[in-house]
Amino acid sequence: MRIAVVGGGPAGLFFARLARRHDPSIEIEIFEQNPASATYGFGVTLAGAARDRLSRADEEVHDRLAACMVFGNVQGIELNDERILIRYAGSGGAIARLQLLEVLEDCCSEVGLVVNHEKRIENAGDLAGFDLIVGADGANSTVRNIWEENFQPRGKLLGNRYAWYGVNKALMPNALSFRMAEGGCFIGHYYAYTRDRSTFVAECDARSWTEAGLDAMSDAERKALIERVFEIELQGEALMENNSVWRRFNAVTVDNWFHDKAVLIGDALRVAHFSVGSGTRIGMDDAVALFESLKAHGSNVPALLTSFVESRKPTRDLFTRATMKSYEWYEDVRNEMQVEIADFAYNFLTRTGRVDADRLKSFAPSFYERYVESRKSNTAAGA
Ligand SMILES: Cc1cc2nc3c(=O)[nH]c(=O)nc-3n(C[C@H](O)[C@H](O)[C@H](O)COP(=O)(O)OP(=O)(O)OC[C@H]3O[C@@H](n4cnc5c(N)ncnc54)[C@H](O)[C@@H]3O)c2cc1C
Repeated sequence: MRIAVVGGGPAGLFFARLARRHDPSIEIEIFEQNPASATYGFGVTLAGAARDRLSRADEEVHDRLAACMVFGNVQGIELNDERILIRYAGSGGAIARLQLLEVLEDCCSEVGLVVNHEKRIENAGDLAGFDLIVGADGANSTVRNIWEENFQPRGKLLGNRYAWYGVNKALMPNALSFRMAEGGCFIGHYYAYTRDRSTFVAECDARSWTEAGLDAMSDAERKALIERVFEIELQGEALMENNSVWRRFNAVTVDNWFHDKAVLIGDALRVAHFSVGSGTRIGMDDAVALFESLKAHGSNVPALLTSFVESRKPTRDLFTRATMKSYEWYEDVRNEMQVEIADFAYNFLTRTGRVDADRLKSFAPSFYERYVESRKSNTAAGA
């Protein structure tokens, strides 16, 4: 069996590693447009449950990634100058995106797979002769575009704008900061991913883009504005750039997950919004599900692709709905910010509908107590 994996991101590399480790007779070619050791963004988070699943699928990959991660169980939620610290029962991990890719690439090379770097797939002709084509080529997937009529992608361009920066310091604890400042409404999503580096995703709502004048600024001016707005959070550090362009998020999904022998996984299939911090693990979970189908059906490609959709789609659908609720909450963040901080934090934590009061009580018990107390005193004050 000959498999083409388009995209050397977490989803493609992990699928290739699992498939080859299981059956060394499978021929796998991995095509990656970027040179080795180049990537976008800075660090990404990998939550506890995701790491457990990863460990069940491939303990060695899990252990090597875990060795490069930093862990924390406290998150700050900041509303202008007030802050609530939430202590979670379990801890979340974060890792440099580049390190994640390097570990996965090493694990691929240990099972005899070499990534063809600086090889961009342009058209169907580049993929002729393969029995299975895995489109793991991210949010702007070429595989999806080649068979656009069959995959039927649908996009939804959001109004908020964002840019992905880094900071040369571990900003502890991880936090989300929501500020009205400089004539706009801004959000800083930040977390340390090594002992001396942090990711800082800056976001503003659609109104702020024009009202605070970002539409007329250069990228350097926008960066300077974010450094002023989040001066306290950044602790005097400047933001670092890595292709840190301000963008609108395009929430692309497809109607059909596969066409003939081509299948999509990871962001190519459905782009996960960064506000849920889970795109990496979703892509790796897709990789596991596709691998399990391959294991069950071998070279019977139609059966393996049907089984992949049947096994993976229900979970993906649930997650897609949660993601939509999350980005819709952010699109309306200016109104959400009009309440006092305990209510704001509660509304934030329950925004996707996946967390209700009982679940919150179990994973963030001390915050839940504080929230209940604040509700009681508000009710008493209003009575
Ligand atoms: C601002 C921001 C913050 C984020 N934070 C987090 C976070 O904290 N936690 C988290 O889990 N996720 C986060 N994500 C999401 C995460 O980065 C993605 O969901 C994840 O990388 C998807 O993995 P993937 O393998 O599907 O695609 P990608 O990681 O995008 O990999 C696709 C690869 O395909 C290559 N490629 C593309 N086209 C071609 C072609 N034609 N030929 C050859 N190669 C090609 C690309 O160069 C790329 O290397 C964030 C995303 C953003 C935008």
